[in-house]
Amino acid sequence: MAQLSDDCFAFGGPMMSVDEAVSIIAARVTAVQDIETVSLVAADGRILAKEISAPLPLPPFTNSAVDGYAVRSGDLAQLEEQAFPVAGRVQAGASAQGPVEPGHAVRIFTGAPMPQGADTVFMQEDVRLDQGRVVLPVGLKPGANVRMAGEDIPAGHSALAAGQRLRPQDVALVAAFGLTHVEVRRRIRVAVFSTGNELVSPGASRGAAQLFDSNRFMLMAMLVRLGCEVSDLGILGDDRVSLASALKSVAGTLDLILTTGGVSTGEEDHVKAAVESVGTLVLWRMAIKPGRPVAMGIIGGTPFIGLPGNPVASFVTFVHVVRPTVLALAGATQQHLIPMPVRAAFTYKKKIARREYVRVNLRRRENGVLEAVKFPREGAGLLSSLVDTDGLVELGEEITLVELGQTVGFLGYASLI
Ligand code: AMP
Ligand code: MG
Repeated sequence: MAQLSDDCFAFGGPMMSVDEAVSIIAARVTAVQDIETVSLVAADGRILAKEISAPLPLPPFTNSAVDGYAVRSGDLAQLEEQAFPVAGRVQAGASAQGPVEPGHAVRIFTGAPMPQGADTVFMQEDVRLDQGRVVLPVGLKPGANVRMAGEDIPAGHSALAAGQRLRPQDVALVAAFGLTHVEVRRRIRVAVFSTGNELVSPGASRGAAQLFDSNRFMLMAMLVRLGCEVSDLGILGDDRVSLASALKSVAGTLDLILTTGGVSTGEEDHVKAAVESVGTLVLWRMAIKPGRPVAMGIIGGTPFIGLPGNPVASFVTFVHVVRPTVLALAGATQQHLIPMPVRAAFTYKKKIARREYVRVNLRRRENGVLEAVKFPREGAGLLSSLVDTDGLVELGEEITLVELGQTVGFLGYASLI
């Protein structure tokens, strides 16, 4: 089973930076070890268990990059155009022909193997035909328009590293090697609960002071995108005993337990006490806004993360705490988020020593520069602020003021998961 070692709880200080939290998690989580073999069509998003070295060079043979005429560069004159007889024709998929005779050209098509002796291809657009001869202009470099065997990837090259989260282009590479299956880590299994007496599931009847549980579906969708197998464990009430027994009943059967709500220190926030009664817990006060406390712990050997209940806080802390944990548990190489520089179309004051995320839309100015327009309202409970925006501007701990026109870092929602 995946593990989070106990000593991470030595770090439960009063206020922890996002980077500190992430490095503690990543260093202490042990990845799942089980390996399964999947076919190429099922490989996207899976975590490669073993390095893949190129079993053959790519391209596997030297071939023409264009439709045209293959020649021997040694036959070409430097100063004047030449007319060569066309002897032979080779199309894609045909076997290579015997040596090109001196002073001759071979008709060739894109992807066809280069005839023996030929090393240069004239594009058909650059030549003309004159009584069965091809007239070749001056100035083409020897080797032009030829793709050499192995120029993309030489045989034996380490092409994909273990821990790579396979993307469509990675799957293409595996296919280009002629492999039909890949060895990947098994998917990690994550259970998700919501907590709160005010919550009901969509479809159930809603009391006047109740709201439909939305976080659970957001979190499950994000986990699925990260390649997890998700168990939906519904809603738990604000009651320590029932929370504790529910947590205990799933611990040990999966790789991560994730909850939302009830992790603050109010009288009706029972998650902390529930985890403490069945496992070990630390409450991290992360220096992040929106955020509030995030609870982490171990219950019966299973890592536990409790996110805040406000939807935006839940989203942001998922990205910074759950995502790196899931990647580490799944055996994936950490994928660092790289903000894209954009112009701030807003001013903003913030606290020093706290990471803040501002919900923004991107807009292109007349001069082509991309700028980030701040969502007009800031509440951490506003789902519309996530739905109606393109992403988050990340403001580092050292920043206290964003001035209009300043360059800031933008993270698109698609890049966060
Ligand atoms: P809590 O973190 O439990 O104090 O909740 C903070 C706020 O988030 C409260 O207004 C809750 O009603 C709301 N909230 C908590 N859990 C959810 C959820 N699963 N879906 C939507 N809103 C929630
Ligand atoms: Mg609550």
